[in-house]
Amino acid sequence: MTLQLFEPPHEGDKITVRAGKLSIPREPIVPQIEGDGTGKDISPVAKDVLRKAARLTGRDVRWFDIPAGETGFTLTGQHLPEKTIETIREYKVALKGPLTTPVAGGFRSLNVTLRQVLDLYACVRPVFYLRGMPSPMKHPEHMDMVIFRENTEDVYAGIEWRSGSPEAEKVLEFLNREMGCHIRPGSGVGVKPMSEYASKRLVRRALRYALDRGRRSVTLVHKGNIMKYTEGAFRDWGYEVAREEFRDRIVTEEDLWKQHGGEVPTGKIVVKDRIADNMLQQLITRTPEYDVLALPNLNGDYISDAAAAQIGGLGVSPGANLGDFIGLFEPTHGSAPKYAGLDKVNPTAILLSGTLMFEFFEWFDAANLVRKAIEETILQKSVTYDVHRQIQGGKLVKCSEFGKLVMDNMDTLTP
Ligand code: NAP
Repeated sequence: MTLQLFEPPHEGDKITVRAGKLSIPREPIVPQIEGDGTGKDISPVAKDVLRKAARLTGRDVRWFDIPAGETGFTLTGQHLPEKTIETIREYKVALKGPLTTPVAGGFRSLNVTLRQVLDLYACVRPVFYLRGMPSPMKHPEHMDMVIFRENTEDVYAGIEWRSGSPEAEKVLEFLNREMGCHIRPGSGVGVKPMSEYASKRLVRRALRYALDRGRRSVTLVHKGNIMKYTEGAFRDWGYEVAREEFRDRIVTEEDLWKQHGGEVPTGKIVVKDRIADNMLQQLITRTPEYDVLALPNLNGDYISDAAAAQIGGLGVSPGANLGDFIGLFEPTHGSAPKYAGLDKVNPTAILLSGTLMFEFFEWFDAANLVRKAIEETILQKSVTYDVHRQIQGGKLVKCSEFGKLVMDNMDTLTP
């Protein structure tokens, strides 16, 4: 990547907020973080394919490269330069490749930091089947869920202290002495905060989405049987927001059976809840019964990857991190360092993340064009290694070749 540091493109316009609504110009300037590891393989493909889809539907995208991760460190001495955060705030959106996070030490996750400082409180991960995609399931086409994962709280809030540190010792002493706990000396300690405010705004967003998009149900997924005052509270706050703010548009599962004989009243969606471990098995055994899911942070992380496995894996699973009038779009997968620079991995997840950005712009035709062209390419059995190893008689293509084939298919699909 050649970067004129923080120099926006000369053409295109900024996305703005007017009268409480996003105003999207015909040629928006979109900041892009290339990402670490395989980010360097998939990001250039995403930029070409998405720009072409925008052009074929009468618009354009003006990419604005901004640094983070290893590139950020090399160019500015910081993994997450303040100016990168400011730029996303100013331009309202960004497309992001994956960023590497060291395990058990080093710096804090840049992904988590970005979500928190920009208050991108809803991580939205649609999980749906692309025709032709190999799957371990008998009916992968039954999978059509949209996961709303809370992004700013729970154990991911990053409040934890290393075993043996003065901070951990202080917290342990307080808990053991003042709060009647019996925690082993020398334990590492983490805190799991979950607030009414953050839980409600996440569930509110999931409910609005379900109603706007004509979905059937919202399921609150929690571990409230064990963690009663955090996960259990998430469930209770979720039902509260549903009953208090969407009374005329929802029916709870309990009322559905008590008052409506199991028939969903016209124009309403069902609100239900499931315990997270049960949900993990119901994802597989009763897939068609679930639609939009709303979850606290850690459950949401596990369940998104498990759901992704049913429809082709992480290489095809997109994501959006949304705040009020701001969106950061990124694949669910990480930087897969062992494949970095091999032009090998599947760019589908970042391409589909771009389609979520197009939906955020209400460019539904551009989003559909990319999705259909990806599907067409998979049906033609030209696939990257991850899909190739699962199908008979496929043609193995590189990451960049897959992108070119998707672009060829877009030409064919455009009248
Ligand atoms: P990962 O990078 O997601 O890779 C795990 C496995 O998923 C890979 O080994 C590969 O499976 C498959 N995979 C990932 N990306 C793929 C793609 N584009 N196409 C096809 N298959 C793909 O997870 P990780 O190894 O646990 O994490 C690596 C680094 O990424 C860590 O530093 C982690 O913190 C970071 N991370 C970043 C984000 C983010 O930026 N939002 C998210 C998650 C993880 P096979 O080996 O079976 O082929």
